[in-house]
Amino acid sequence: MAIRTDAAYAAELDAQDELAAFRQRFVIDDPNLIYLDGNSLGRLPRATRERSHTLIDTEWGQRLIRSWNEGWFDMPERIGAKIAQLIGAAPDEVIVADSTSVNLFKLVVGALRLQHGRTRILTDNLNFPSDLYILQGAIELLGGRHRLNILESPDGVHGPVEAIHAALDENVALLTLSHTVFKSGYTYDLAALTAAAHDAGALVLWDLSHSVGALPIDLRAANADLAVGCTYKYLNGGPGAPAFLYVRRDLQERLGNPISGWMGQRNLFAFDLHYQPARSIRRYLTGTPPIVSLALIEPGVDLLLEAGIERVRAKSERQTGYLIALWEALLQPVGFTLNSPHDSRWRGSHISLGHPEGLRIDLALINDCNVLPDFRAPDNIRLGVAPLYTSYAELHAAAVWMRRIVDERLYEKYPREAPVVT
Ligand SMILES: *Cc1c(COP(=O)(O)O)cnc(C)c1O
Repeated sequence: MAIRTDAAYAAELDAQDELAAFRQRFVIDDPNLIYLDGNSLGRLPRATRERSHTLIDTEWGQRLIRSWNEGWFDMPERIGAKIAQLIGAAPDEVIVADSTSVNLFKLVVGALRLQHGRTRILTDNLNFPSDLYILQGAIELLGGRHRLNILESPDGVHGPVEAIHAALDENVALLTLSHTVFKSGYTYDLAALTAAAHDAGALVLWDLSHSVGALPIDLRAANADLAVGCTYKYLNGGPGAPAFLYVRRDLQERLGNPISGWMGQRNLFAFDLHYQPARSIRRYLTGTPPIVSLALIEPGVDLLLEAGIERVRAKSERQTGYLIALWEALLQPVGFTLNSPHDSRWRGSHISLGHPEGLRIDLALINDCNVLPDFRAPDNIRLGVAPLYTSYAELHAAAVWMRRIVDERLYEKYPREAPVVT
């Protein structure tokens, strides 16, 4: 695609952008900061700041314990039901609880126990490392009877789709993948792989962390079994905000929660000494929810529902396409490689660009150019597009900076070792 690489063209694209007004709904403290890390930590919605005041001053400060009956107790299901609208689930199939990693653990153990007799777990080497660690821990906990097959991506960018199809057989208990993978942004065909796994009698657990809030997901149409996802990325829920989990309604009766706690008990205030799981999605709760950070998820979810996930995706595709066109025109000639799928059907909402000096270019962007991308080893600079607040002008300026950093060797003053959080 030939595009204009001038700033005026980016300004034209912003002027035509029907979601442009949503940017004002976020706290933009430094208007010159080019924030391209919404895929790691979404920006703070203005409404969240307002919500934090009523939560702290009124609900906690004044109403105290009474607030549990005035909205706190039901909050995990109520906000879960809103997230359900973003992922094509029924309101009673999603609940907010714990972290993504912990939710994954609960559903993995529950699924493996349901699938007794089957001993293989399939995943890929593009999955988020925490997901693999959780799988390894679950296998150990269950007595070491399962085998983890980590299928390899053919090129480090695209998922090993053919290898997954070939590996699905009557011995596979569970297939678990990141729907959109964290490095390249490759996005699997959720419906097709779910159907293939079901044909083999396997359950499927999708990690939606890098998809939710960035692209439409239809779990119901896919007849998906299980899913987990993060709320602090494209949902803008705040650092470490609790995650969500989805269990298809008919599986809820059979799939147990291995961390059985009182919040998942059928009649918790009876203080019965014997655990009996709730007959609803609440059975996947364990302990008392972190109300402060849980409540602060809601305004960000509301913004996405207001904007409409189809419109968010349309803008995301245009913006990642624009970035790829800028890469072709400005960055490929100076050694950057595209480490994300070229075809928009197969990509999420971030673009990874590789460069042999990637880490030092990243440091120059952060320290000298007021651009915040992130970096994933060995050489990926990830440029996250969050359509509710990312502008075309920001994408343009970031690409121009990357070109200049290489042309003028501005990265040379930085060391080769990585800082702790990249
Ligand atoms: C961000 C992310 C997580 C985060 O897990 P935490 O338990 O919140 O640390 C998990 N899985 C994937 C695929 C992610 O992208």
